[in-house]
Amino acid sequence: MTISATPVGTRFTGPYYVRGEDGYEAARLARIFSTRHPKRYPAAILVPHTEQDIIEGVRLAQEQGWQVGVRAGGHSFPVWGMRDNALLIDLGEFKEMEYDHETHIVSVTPAVQGGVELNTYLQPHGRFFAGGRCPTVGVGGFLLQGGIGWNFRGWGWAVERLVAIDVVTAAGELVRADESQNADLFWAARGCGPGFPGLITRFHIHTRAIPQALTTTKQFFPIERYAEVLAWLNEAQKAMPKDNDLLGISFQPDFEIPGHSGGYVFGISATAYCDTAEEAQTILAPLADNPFLTDALLVVPPTPTTLADEYAFVDAAHPAGYRYRVESAWVDGPHTDIASALKMLVAERPIHEKGYTFFQYALPIDGPDIAMSMRTDLMVGAYIIYSNPEDDEHYRQWALDAMKPLEPYSVGQYWGDSDQEHREVRCLTDEAWSRVRDVRRAWDPDQRFVDYLAGPDGYQNRNGWQEA
Ligand SMILES: Cc1cc2nc3c(=O)[nH]c(=O)nc-3n(C[C@H](O)[C@H](O)[C@H](O)COP(=O)(O)OP(=O)(O)OC[C@H]3O[C@@H](n4cnc5c(N)ncnc54)[C@H](O)[C@@H]3O)c2cc1C
Repeated sequence: MTISATPVGTRFTGPYYVRGEDGYEAARLARIFSTRHPKRYPAAILVPHTEQDIIEGVRLAQEQGWQVGVRAGGHSFPVWGMRDNALLIDLGEFKEMEYDHETHIVSVTPAVQGGVELNTYLQPHGRFFAGGRCPTVGVGGFLLQGGIGWNFRGWGWAVERLVAIDVVTAAGELVRADESQNADLFWAARGCGPGFPGLITRFHIHTRAIPQALTTTKQFFPIERYAEVLAWLNEAQKAMPKDNDLLGISFQPDFEIPGHSGGYVFGISATAYCDTAEEAQTILAPLADNPFLTDALLVVPPTPTTLADEYAFVDAAHPAGYRYRVESAWVDGPHTDIASALKMLVAERPIHEKGYTFFQYALPIDGPDIAMSMRTDLMVGAYIIYSNPEDDEHYRQWALDAMKPLEPYSVGQYWGDSDQEHREVRCLTDEAWSRVRDVRRAWDPDQRFVDYLAGPDGYQNRNGWQEA
């Protein structure tokens, strides 16, 4: 990459590119995971190497009258941080991790990948971060949206483990925010999503001990049986032990299943997060009560696993170099009605593309007061993973059509799967949204940092279909 020759570049230790210069286009698209690249063009791109570079970047934006967009791990599907005529601060070359043995707190910069980098670093210490299941997701965007990580059902939002953040404010100053100082900023950082009124330079996270007896069991059924199996699981999971990380999934297996001749199957994956084989047995025992087991195509009995194996499985399901169309909804209502409304999403998925539809379970909220408070006991999400740009509109429409029958049961959506330009869905409770707006006004009165990326009316935290 050519480093900019622009004089202002001497202000930074990291590369700085102005639109039109050598290296700008490569920097604009650097590290973006989904290849469905938006046609948005920042005025300039800064790739800071230090915290001081970031401070100088925000000050430069002030001087130039630019807004600031941020890229951390580069995994947001709509590429939220890339905006026309703004300064894009890409944190990809500012990666630092520091673990404190006494407090078990790790301090980490936002572009660090939660699995590949952070958990590899923590592993020798016997600790881990319950980050995104996909190992390459950046810590920054993931935590800001709440974070659905390992054992979400038992542990709740990953961001509940955050103890402090360091933030460069709109005024170009570096501040610490935690429960006792700048507490409103700290509250917002735990779930406000891609509209945070500052640039977080470091997250201080309380790590967890690596579970010593991670154990998993899987059941696979013919896709035609999904509604019955799902209705049972939705009800039965409420009484299952909380350290059972439970998922439902409709997918096309890339391994052999006896009696299955191709196409989609419906699977249940249950993983026990615990330290002994006895605990694992107790946690996973309720899965053996599935009344549809005799109809299963394949049952994998409880088997010891590792975090590395689980990451490898998820990583293989999310290949790089593809275009991603993603949707989800937190749903509430009669389980049999919801199961019928899911038919297109589960059983009529595009057969020639990669991807899957998943069911993420959640138990009642029992955590700290944080901005992310939108959830029900079940999230339904769908990934379509394809390569032909000519299919963009087709799959955009497919996703809209597939989500439509779910609308009567949809309470809202998770930031991580949302694209508000494409479908307007509520990601926060009304109360949290009102507080987030107050925090934004207080910390960024001139809107130095870019607003939520949304349609012509801006982000309104509403379900578009309810306004019609
Ligand atoms: C293959 C794949 C699998 C995924 N799996 C999961 C999963 O298991 N669980 C889950 O919860 N999510 C998952 N996601 C969603 C993912 O967590 C979000 O897209 C998240 O925003 C990615 O964070 P990032 O830092 O990589 O992205 P980026 O695009 O770099 O950042 C997203 C936005 O976050 C904000 N932001 C990031 N860092 C900062 C900062 N330091 N200061 C201020 N604002 C900042 C900005 O608005 C930025 O535009 C997955 C995504 C992909 C592509």
